[in-house]
Amino acid sequence: MGSESSLCLDKFYPEKDLKIVDAREEKDKIIVQMRSVSGSSRCPKCGCATDKYHGMYRRRVQDLPILRKGVQLEISAHEYECINDDCEVTSFAETFNGFVDTYSRMTERCADLVCTLALETSCEGCARICNTLGIKTSGDTVIRLLLKRYDSLPAPEAGDVIGVDDFAYRKRHTYGTIIVDERTHGPIALLDGRDGDTLRGWLRHHKNVKVVTRDRASAYAKVIEEELPDAMQVADRFHLHQNLLEAIKKALNQELPATIDIPHADGSTGPERKCKKNRIHCG
Ligand SMILES: [Zn+2]
Repeated sequence: MGSESSLCLDKFYPEKDLKIVDAREEKDKIIVQMRSVSGSSRCPKCGCATDKYHGMYRRRVQDLPILRKGVQLEISAHEYECINDDCEVTSFAETFNGFVDTYSRMTERCADLVCTLALETSCEGCARICNTLGIKTSGDTVIRLLLKRYDSLPAPEAGDVIGVDDFAYRKRHTYGTIIVDERTHGPIALLDGRDGDTLRGWLRHHKNVKVVTRDRASAYAKVIEEELPDAMQVADRFHLHQNLLEAIKKALNQELPATIDIPHADGSTGPERKCKKNRIHCG
């Protein structure tokens, strides 16, 4: 490998930590055998650098496909021991500076492609495209990958003006609570339930909030009043509008008779010309 007339594969991998031992082609995939030449790594939990060798194990991970063939890396990798006494991790697999996450079955660049495809299509659609390309995966695996990526993101900062509302995971069955930063209009948190219990826990860690917009239901109002007594509560425009329309509808229904006779051209009325009250507002 590496002659002037051939393609050097090493440069496509972290050369400092991985050495290609062999590369061979099979019917539907290309297998690249590699071994770790690292001398140290960082603990994925506490970030402490360590060179305390624990052992070696073989990893099989998928990489980006090439020439319509899947690529499988067979890596003889190192395990290291965390030397931080305060860390709960005893030993861990090296990540080659983020090239392969700990115990992951695909390289990070391969996971990047899968996540991008999933966000542009769907988890099941993404899995079908990946399998066509030579990346073996399933819709469930894609979901787990997306959730793992989401969990690794830093929690968004909450401003001092937030909006709270409920939403349905499944209408009439499961509900949640969404919290939005009103200055950026971006969601900050999704909480389980809509009875205010989870909102209470969230507010206890966000005492900086000064203004809360919400619907007119009492569950949220009570919790906000108890946890943030100095915060201003504002009925949001959407719910005010919704409540106003409902009030107008109710008032009209009370004022209008149960049926309205619509006269024929000759002035007579008949049952077929009667319009029920509850249909009036449909037109
Ligand atoms: Zn550690």
